[in-house]
Amino acid sequence: MSTAYEQKMICNKNDGAPEQQDDNQPPSSSDIDAIDAVAEDIEKVTLLENSNDISEVSKEFCAACGKEGKSCDMNTCNKCKSVKYCNAACKKKHRSKHKKKCERIVAELYDEKLFADPPSREECPICFQLLPLDADQYSFFSCCGKTICDGCIYAMRESEGGVLALCAFCRKPPTTYISRSNEVNTKQLKNLMAAGNGSAFLVLAGYYVNGSYGLPQDQAKANELYLKAGELGCSTGYYNLADSYNQGERVEVDKTKAEHYYELAAMGGSVLARHNLGCAEWETGNLHRAMKHFIIAVRSGFEGSLEIVKHGFECELITKDEYANTLRLYHERQKEMRSDMRDKARGFYGSFPY
Ligand SMILES: [Zn+2]
Ligand SMILES: [Zn+2]
Ligand SMILES: [Zn+2]
Ligand SMILES: [Zn+2]
Repeated sequence: MSTAYEQKMICNKNDGAPEQQDDNQPPSSSDIDAIDAVAEDIEKVTLLENSNDISEVSKEFCAACGKEGKSCDMNTCNKCKSVKYCNAACKKKHRSKHKKKCERIVAELYDEKLFADPPSREECPICFQLLPLDADQYSFFSCCGKTICDGCIYAMRESEGGVLALCAFCRKPPTTYISRSNEVNTKQLKNLMAAGNGSAFLVLAGYYVNGSYGLPQDQAKANELYLKAGELGCSTGYYNLADSYNQGERVEVDKTKAEHYYELAAMGGSVLARHNLGCAEWETGNLHRAMKHFIIAVRSGFEGSLEIVKHGFECELITKDEYANTLRLYHERQKEMRSDMRDKARGFYGSFPY
């Protein structure tokens, strides 16, 4: 463990931060040139940053030739969108010189998005509590396109005399509980899909994986539906698609695509994807990046990443304040996802892994 940590600390020296001067050595003329170049860069960046707040009439300097121009008339780097040129010729000329910096800016901007707080979890439309993290603790009703927690399903079941929970909105039984006619079931899902309901795509994908409700077993079709579900904001769709690429389920194993979809899933709020990303970073020795992922998962109430965050604190990968803050948010989320009815439902329907 400590070896990997030390490796990371060494790697950190190359993360773009200026290296420390040896105090006993006077700076050489090449050092001074290098310092001048950095100072010039900082000045240009400051000018660019300052000019961002001012409207279109603001002036900027071409990163290639230094000529001043009107910001709105200038040619922007399509990749990082942070550097301006007076024309396409200057942009082309500067391409190779700018490449490295451009890649760094793009990576930094991407990381900002990757490690931003994920969107808040969806609420159960009956009890208005956050839906549990475990997909086994809620059900999707294809009649109305609503996802309802097991606590409310249990309460509905009790109110029906302990027989069957009917949809609180239209009084029909849930998709996952009873096999209505295949046509009715898929027709309902297709109506929801036409209305852009991401969960409906996910549910139909599940039918194709198992070949249920009269549909053929077709993982390739399921993968298409997962993608669509993800695009419609259903992070589990991206997560399942990432798993398909990771394991080569009717697609060629593609670890880059798997990572891409795990990242999209994590950004959409999937704690399992977030935990996976943390494990992948951990395995490659990027312990600080790993911790960032695990912390986000725990802050979302995910117990599965709790132990490793505790370990991160013990190894001084995270500070005491970060750890305390993470635990506080963990308990808040847990409280928001717990209720007497949900506890009763767990006792009734069985216990779950998380
Ligand atoms: Zn120019
Ligand atoms: Zn660029
Ligand atoms: Zn509920
Ligand atoms: Zn309904």
